[in-house]
Amino acid sequence: MLKLSGEALSKDGKGQGIHQPTLHAVASSIAEVSKKGIQMVIVVGGGNIWRFRDTTDSGIERTASDAMGMLATIMNGVALQAALEAMGSFCRVASSIQVPQLAEPYIRRRVIRHLEKNRIVICAGGTGNPFFTTDSAAALRALELNCECVLKATNVDGIYDKDPNKFADA
Ligand code: UDP
Repeated sequence: MLKLSGEALSKDGKGQGIHQPTLHAVASSIAEVSKKGIQMVIVVGGGNIWRFRDTTDSGIERTASDAMGMLATIMNGVALQAALEAMGSFCRVASSIQVPQLAEPYIRRRVIRHLEKNRIVICAGGTGNPFFTTDSAAALRALELNCECVLKATNVDGIYDKDPNKFADA
């Protein structure tokens, strides 16, 4: 299980949106690992597009804001899938939120079957519930899918009680 924050796809890992060279660099590393025969599940965040915590002054109530964050993870997932497939890897997006035109629904046994066939699986849509983050989704899916390890590629270097980029005493 690899947990990527949304920002991992943005310019210099800190910005907004999807930066194509960064997207392709991330995809290329994932493809390299997958080609060694290592089964890879990816949970991708959405903070480069929308994150509840960063938008509390938006006036958008929590459940709507969280829904927007979960949709953002699907956009990132679809972008990463396209980048991986452009490199010759096979990849499926399994979404916790129903968007059948874009991604298949998350079904545990189906994901396991994809992994057995050495397809990369991107779990998008977070947990499908508001009031959670994609870190929770990564932990949940890793347990469900019997992942051997969880790697988290994020924009801080440890575990803090608040955002260390904003609070010096974190
Ligand atoms: N989110 C949610 N439920 C989930 C996962 C995510 O409501 O199960 C929403 C929440 O608003 C969160 C946003 O989606 O802020 C983006 O996810 P996250 O902040 O975890 O992204 P990351 O920090 O990894 O880029």
